[in-house]
Amino acid sequence: MAVALADGLSDKQLDAIERATRAIGVELFARANDDQPTVLERRWWDDRIMAWAMRDESVKAQMFRFIDVLPMLDTSEAVTEHLHEYFDDVRRYLPSAARLGLSVARPGTIAGRALAIAARRNALGHARRFIAGTTQSEVVAAAMNERKLKRAFTLDLLGEAVTSEIEADNYLQAYIDLIESIAPIVNRWPEVPQIDRAGGAELPRVNVSIKLSALDSQFDPIDQAGTTRRVTRRLRNLLRVARAHRAFVNIDMESYKTKDLTLAIFKQTMLEDEFRDTSDVGIVIQCYLKDSAEDLRGLCSWAADRERAVWVRLVKGAYWDYETVMAQQSGWPVPVFQEKWQTDNNFEELTRMALANHRHLRTALGSHNLRSLAHGIAVSRELRVPHDQFELQMLYGMGDAAKQAIVDAGYRLRIYMPFGQLIPGMAYLVRRLLENTSNESFLRASFAEHIPVERLMMNPREHRHEARPPLAQHDGNTPRPMTESNPAFRNEPLTDFSREDNRRAMQDAIAEVTRQFGRSYPLVIDGQEIETASWQDSRCPAHKSRSVGRVSIATTEHADAAVRAAGVALEPWWRMGAKGRAEYLRQAAAVMRRRRFELAAWQIFECAKPWREADGDVAEAIDFCEFYALGAERMDAAHGVDVPGEENRFAYVPRGVTAVIAPWNFPLAILTGMTAAALASGNTVVMKPAEQSSVVGAKLMEIFREVGLPPGVLNYVPGPGEIVGAALVEHPDVATIAFTGSRAVGLAINARAAEVSASKRLRHVKHVIAEMGGKNAIIIDDDADLDEAVLGVVKSAFGYQGQKCSACSRVIVLDSVNSVFLERLVEATRSLKIGPAEDPATAVSAVIDEDSFRRIHKYIDLGRQTGTEVLAMEVDGLEREGYYIGPHIFADIAPDDRLAQEEIFGPVLVVLRAANLDEAIRIFNDSDYALTGGIFSRSPEHLRRARRELLVGNLYLNRGITGALVNRQPFGGFKMSGIGTKAGGSDYLLQFVVPRAITENTMRRGFAAASAADEENTSDG
Ligand SMILES: Cc1cc2nc3c(=O)[nH]c(=O)nc-3n(C[C@H](O)[C@H](O)[C@H](O)COP(=O)(O)OP(=O)(O)OC[C@H]3O[C@@H](n4cnc5c(N)ncnc54)[C@H](O)[C@@H]3O)c2cc1C
Repeated sequence: MAVALADGLSDKQLDAIERATRAIGVELFARANDDQPTVLERRWWDDRIMAWAMRDESVKAQMFRFIDVLPMLDTSEAVTEHLHEYFDDVRRYLPSAARLGLSVARPGTIAGRALAIAARRNALGHARRFIAGTTQSEVVAAAMNERKLKRAFTLDLLGEAVTSEIEADNYLQAYIDLIESIAPIVNRWPEVPQIDRAGGAELPRVNVSIKLSALDSQFDPIDQAGTTRRVTRRLRNLLRVARAHRAFVNIDMESYKTKDLTLAIFKQTMLEDEFRDTSDVGIVIQCYLKDSAEDLRGLCSWAADRERAVWVRLVKGAYWDYETVMAQQSGWPVPVFQEKWQTDNNFEELTRMALANHRHLRTALGSHNLRSLAHGIAVSRELRVPHDQFELQMLYGMGDAAKQAIVDAGYRLRIYMPFGQLIPGMAYLVRRLLENTSNESFLRASFAEHIPVERLMMNPREHRHEARPPLAQHDGNTPRPMTESNPAFRNEPLTDFSREDNRRAMQDAIAEVTRQFGRSYPLVIDGQEIETASWQDSRCPAHKSRSVGRVSIATTEHADAAVRAAGVALEPWWRMGAKGRAEYLRQAAAVMRRRRFELAAWQIFECAKPWREADGDVAEAIDFCEFYALGAERMDAAHGVDVPGEENRFAYVPRGVTAVIAPWNFPLAILTGMTAAALASGNTVVMKPAEQSSVVGAKLMEIFREVGLPPGVLNYVPGPGEIVGAALVEHPDVATIAFTGSRAVGLAINARAAEVSASKRLRHVKHVIAEMGGKNAIIIDDDADLDEAVLGVVKSAFGYQGQKCSACSRVIVLDSVNSVFLERLVEATRSLKIGPAEDPATAVSAVIDEDSFRRIHKYIDLGRQTGTEVLAMEVDGLEREGYYIGPHIFADIAPDDRLAQEEIFGPVLVVLRAANLDEAIRIFNDSDYALTGGIFSRSPEHLRRARRELLVGNLYLNRGITGALVNRQPFGGFKMSGIGTKAGGSDYLLQFVVPRAITENTMRRGFAAASAADEENTSDG
């Protein structure tokens, strides 16, 4: 059915609405002020803590961080310590009483205990303003209070992030229990017609608001079908219980990446026969989103087709900072408006659109902005939408004076009442505090900064020409512009799989690549394809009987021929100069970008890389090409310090032929990285990919041929490491060996290269760059955010089956949080889906090959002997299809056990306990390796110690430890983790060149000629 897509209002009507809006707004404002004659919200704004917070951004940031961590601190010593850690640095901005308090209150003293108690009481006091209660009886009492004030309610159960299926079940059950227990009580209460009736009919009194992501631990738009199935199963149960008790269910809206899927699930479920006839449901549209108008139109058409109205709650949106920062960080378009007036204006436009279609959409306006609400009321009058056919909504604890003014004006007002435990409660509290203290907040402007009402009631469009303060000072919550060490370089964004076109493109690529299975891939030497006598099938680890392609296998003679070709090509390639060489690399990057999904699809099959991992690998390969191209150009610019009479030139020259010996775990990225670095800096390359990923290697060769790289500059010789790899290492004309792989092979290459350099009387010492793995650990501190810690560890340990050099294989947990962390970790891991990598739902697929499979199983057997197996996930028969091993977690392992010391390179995680941070740091550093590692902690002092004392090449604080990005997190370790500097870092290229300094004395008999540079700068004359 066609619906009105716009509001259809004439200019005259719009003018009338504008006049009415101002009048209604001013009146509401006056009524609210009448209610509390001095300053609205006095109780709130007079609070000294908030006043300090608003005076200084640094105090505010520390204040909210402290409130966030508080529920995890179970002793007064811990509270006092954190107070000092958070506030000592900003002490000078605190009022004198607070400064004094801090200086006398040391942990463990009476004053310290008193301060801790006061801090806790204060924070709880704040929390109680925004949270209606922790128990159901408190909530019932709060709901009753609202109704006494003629205000309806909707209940929101605060929850920790749902990290496992058990938690999702528990969350659903808590909602069901809530409805079942309070509905019989609330439905017996006396009727309040202003809120209980609409159009003569009775409205549901019990009303709940729920977030769909809490109904599925694996909620992920990449797996549309699976997520929909799981969420719908639980949502149906909730809707049935709600119907049985005459309760209303509203679907809240969360971050942008879940928006489309949330809307789709809502629409699909509400079209099912069982629910098609209900109007007691609603969903949220966030007006700060640029595509919200489109979504509202879609919702309206859908509701019209359904022939039964649903509710839509228009809000501005609660995650503005998050959306802005995440989009900037990911290199994706920012989905939210960047100017406040745009959001306000869009809210008004969508209000008009929704109310104009009120036959299909019942409108709820969720805002504390009296201008936004007054506009809604004005539109409803102009369009003659009856009073009870729409409603206004506000949050519990916010805008209280305005609330009564709205009720007194005769409108239905519903209060959004969150309730629940302290830990999730604090996160909610921090969101509200941020919102209230934001420079852009209407409440702050009106009630704390006393902006005149005429200005507050202005049409948002009238603010459009106002200059905005620069971002950094604009608001403490807004992102600062990104600082970059390498401003001309931008990381290739990862694919946003919440977009349907991207998911489709990946599915198409998977289908296309499957059609190309079985093709043959010859060697490429000196630009010529060479088919050898020996061929090998490259098989899918997840479907071991399937061959991805046939690869020609090189012999030592081929390796020799390739090195000779590379030797011949060397001089012209180098002489071409960095600019010319960089151009080839940039073109290669462009081809990769064009073939992005296809290249990922090859990895999905040949290496069993799940979608996101495969996509990340291609993005990193693109980054390497562009980053090293730029680096080489910079390196090429001759530099040196001239003084009168002396000219100095400094230049880099390539070392010579480079053998690139690459692993299978980043089949394109690492192979490309080492190759691109060598090529960019003027070397020629013989490339030997891992046997397990030779087809992806052939694809890289194909790309460089497509961009017309001169013959011999890059040669492709796949084959066994022991034969082809060894031949390259030993070859007298190979100057550099760039290797990534196991410690054993890396050390053997290093030793052999040194031996050969000595024994064959070469004229150079072979240079070895080797990246060799790790035994990476994450520490979980006793004040860590466990939601984030659990998810960070699961991803770092089991992402790509634990087969990354950066993977977490030890987690070191402080005693006091060990049991709760371990329980959540196990359940979160158990909720991961194991399957073939081409299925987007798969989180864990097969390990690379039979050797790995056997080796990992040996470690699992060992773990069963030396520790406690707390999780052993079954693969349910998949082992017949491929080399599947489910995630395994072992506890009670000694830190010096082989399981805790040796690199396993599979989905096996060891949990170690530590009494305190000192012990955790000792265990962390007790390793032969030093590659990646991390800590989850909210203690500034512990984070400071971590920076200093955790000795690894890549250290991550409060995030997972995998996924290093080129330039942003240059990657590589030391100790037994590697020889050489960091890949994707500014000094990586230096390993492929030798520096030369050339000095010329330009004095001739007391006369110094102007240097070339001087001459260039001299104008005529
Ligand atoms: C009953 C109710 C239910 C809610 N449910 C949800 C929900 O499900 N999902 C959700 O996301 N939010 C929800 N919210 C929160 C809501 O989105 C707002 O965060 C909050 O109400 C503040 O908006 P305001 O109109 O009251 O205040 P105002 O002060 O007028 O507006 C503040 C809002 O403007 C936006 N903004 C701030 N700075 C900028 C800028 N520079 N450029 C562009 N826009 C900017 C932000 O969205 C910010 O929240 C709900 C609010 C209510 C009252």
